[in-house]
Amino acid sequence: MKKHNFYAGPSILSEYTIKNTAEAILNFADTGLSVLEVSHRSKEFQAVIDEATALVKEILEIPEGFSVLWLGGGASMQFCMIPFNFLNKKASYIDTGTWASNAIKEARLFGEVDVVASSKDANYTYIPKDWKIAEGSEYFHYTSNNTIYGTEIRKDPDVSVPMICDMSSDIFSRPIDWSKYIAVYAGAQKNLAPAGVTLVIVRDDALGHVERAIPTMLDYRTHIKKGSMFNTPPVLPIYSALQTLRYYKQLGGLKELERRDLEKAAALYNAIDESKMFEGTVTDPNDRSIMNVCFVMKPEYKELEKDFVEFCANRGIVGIKGHRSVGGFRASLYNALPMESVKVLIEAMKDFEYKH
Ligand SMILES: *Cc1c(COP(=O)(O)O)cnc(C)c1O
Repeated sequence: MKKHNFYAGPSILSEYTIKNTAEAILNFADTGLSVLEVSHRSKEFQAVIDEATALVKEILEIPEGFSVLWLGGGASMQFCMIPFNFLNKKASYIDTGTWASNAIKEARLFGEVDVVASSKDANYTYIPKDWKIAEGSEYFHYTSNNTIYGTEIRKDPDVSVPMICDMSSDIFSRPIDWSKYIAVYAGAQKNLAPAGVTLVIVRDDALGHVERAIPTMLDYRTHIKKGSMFNTPPVLPIYSALQTLRYYKQLGGLKELERRDLEKAAALYNAIDESKMFEGTVTDPNDRSIMNVCFVMKPEYKELEKDFVEFCANRGIVGIKGHRSVGGFRASLYNALPMESVKVLIEAMKDFEYKH
C-alpha cells in the first residue's frame, strides 16, 4: 500500500533524495565505494559539500558576508552555541513553544534574557503580538515555526536589533530578508535531510564580539575557517541534503516551494474549517503554520480520536497522531509531501465524518 507520511520529524524526504542516497550507499560518485566508507577529505566528498553550500546560498539568496555551516549536535546544540558566540550581556527572546523555551533556558546560562512575550498560558495556541524588545538587547531570537503547536511567524519581524532564528521546521518554505539577521539555523530532519546535520548560516562580522572564551568546537569561527571540516562532518546527511537541494532547484526554488506549501495548507485548513467533527487548535487563523497542521475532534466526538488514527492507518496515512502536549492530530506538510497525500487525508476525514 502506498504510504502517506505526515511525521513531524524525522519526516518525509523526496523520492529523488532517497533514491540517490540509496544509490550512493552502494556506489558513490563512481568510486566503487559506499558514501558510508569514504574519507570526508576525499575530492569526491569535497565536491558534495561545496555544491551543497553553493546551492543553499543560491536557493535562499544569501548575500556576501554570511557563512554556511554543516554542524552536528542538532538544532538543540544551537540553543547553546548561539548565546556562546553572540550574547555578551543581554538578549531578547520570544517564547512561542517548547523549542523556543529550550533556547531561552540555555541562553540564561550566558547572560540576561528578556522574554518579550509568551503564549505559554494558552498552551502556545497563538503568537503573541504587541511586544517590545528590551533596551540594551544585543539580538532578538525567535522560532519561526512551532512544530509541536502548529503556529508560525511567516514574515520576518521588524525589530530594532539583529535577529537570530530557529527555522528548523520551515526553512526553504519562504524567502528570508537577510539584512535583518545575524544567524539562522535549522536541524535537517524536517525540510532537508536525514537527522544528523544542522544547517547554520551566520553573518561573519557579527562574530568575535563576546568577551568569554569559547571552546573550539562551539566557536563558529573554527568551522568557518575549516569549511565545516574541522572534524568529521555528518557525511551521509550532507550527501542527502545535496540531493534535496538539487531537487528544490529543479522544481523552481523557493517561489515554487512556497506556492506548493501554501496550496497544501489551504486545502487542509479548509477541510478542517468546513468539518462538523474536527476543529483547529490555533486560535488566530493568521498564526496557523503551513508546515504543521494541528487539529482535534470537537468535544462531542472526542472519544473517536483513537479510531480515526486507525482509520487513517488503513489507508496508508501515517504519523498524524498529535504531540502528547497538544493531543489530537498533527499533519506535517513538509516540502517533500505531495498534494496527493493531503487529498488522501482530506478524503479520509470526510469519509470518517460521514460514517459517524
Ligand atoms: C525539531 C526541532 C528542534 C530540535 O531539533 P534537534 O535537531 O532534535 O535538536 C528545534 N527547533 C525546532 C523548531 C524543531 O522543529
